[in-house]
Amino acid sequence: MPRHLLIQNGVLAAPAGPLRADVLCHEGRIVAIGRDLLEPDAVVIDATGLTVGPGLIDVHVHGGGGHAFFTQDQERIRDYARWAPRNGVTSFLVSTIGRDAEDTVGIFAALAPLVGKTEGAEVLGFHLEGPFINPERHGAFHPRMLRPPVREEYLRFQAAANGHIRQVTMAPELPLALDLAVAISSSGAIPAMGHTDATVAQARAGFDSGIRHVTHLFNAMRPIHHREGGPIVAALLQDSATCELICDGAHVGVETLQMAYRTLGASRTVVVTDNLHLAGMDALTGRFAGEEVTVSGGKAAKADGTIVGSVETLDQHFRNAMQFFGIPVETAFRICSTNPAQIAGAANRKGRLDRGMDADLVLMDGDFRVKLTVCRGNIAYDGR
Ligand SMILES: [Zn+2]
Repeated sequence: MPRHLLIQNGVLAAPAGPLRADVLCHEGRIVAIGRDLLEPDAVVIDATGLTVGPGLIDVHVHGGGGHAFFTQDQERIRDYARWAPRNGVTSFLVSTIGRDAEDTVGIFAALAPLVGKTEGAEVLGFHLEGPFINPERHGAFHPRMLRPPVREEYLRFQAAANGHIRQVTMAPELPLALDLAVAISSSGAIPAMGHTDATVAQARAGFDSGIRHVTHLFNAMRPIHHREGGPIVAALLQDSATCELICDGAHVGVETLQMAYRTLGASRTVVVTDNLHLAGMDALTGRFAGEEVTVSGGKAAKADGTIVGSVETLDQHFRNAMQFFGIPVETAFRICSTNPAQIAGAANRKGRLDRGMDADLVLMDGDFRVKLTVCRGNIAYDGR
């Protein structure tokens, strides 16, 4: 790591609007932001004509660049962490689950030592998607992987993960699910409603038991009926809950995303990719959870048409969000970095450009294409 890194002449995507300023980083942290900063032994990056923002954070990602997270092999995660900065990603939650409880325990035990320790993008912890979800809304997960909610089983997973599970996707309508939500919160993670067939009343009971985030709103949940709005309407009306939106334009129709964003606004929207290992690759077929999937039109689907994950990388979702929602770049950073940092439990050091924050930055050109990415003071990608 260069002791000092100085990013000069860029335009910061500051919350209050674009700001012409330099950013000085020292030993992995931002130490100064201002005009005409000087540091004689700094490595200098000329950011003239570039937008400088906080690195993008993905809290719902299963892999990319050919590297899948459903594994006990640390190398797959390390490879992904080195690959992801080309997409502007500087940290992420490993979203994963095993074939059964033993495999899940094995995955968390094997991968927990990586938290905070990878080169490139940083592993902030884990997102456990399943197994306590509704078989009626299993999405890409094989029904035999699913389990009724059992508090003790979850606590075994969290212990194996050394307390690093940050988000748990669960269905509030299942028996004992509300007890599970309370246990998840007490363990330091966020209970998230998802893969659910809940009615409005069941979803509200979940929110009352501590659910405060919603996993890929619209996907793998009971659709809206005008007399029973289900989890979607309950989530949109729940001011205390943030909601994930997959902004690839394939998982959810653009107008549907626009309608949701009008209700959620910038404060409650969390953009996620739900990326598969096939993301960012040209491969047209691959495997997911043991089944063959085919990539076309920006999405990966099983033979029966079920979408299993997006293959557009987070920088594309970022550009889509600006276009779909008509928002300025600083708002796109809010929903692709600041808000995800909160879900990952890292808001005190990530998701904003400020003195004392981690030096996680992305530099984008006039079309918001990633030109350079800095992870904790290291240049992790340079595409200039
Ligand atoms: Zn997922």
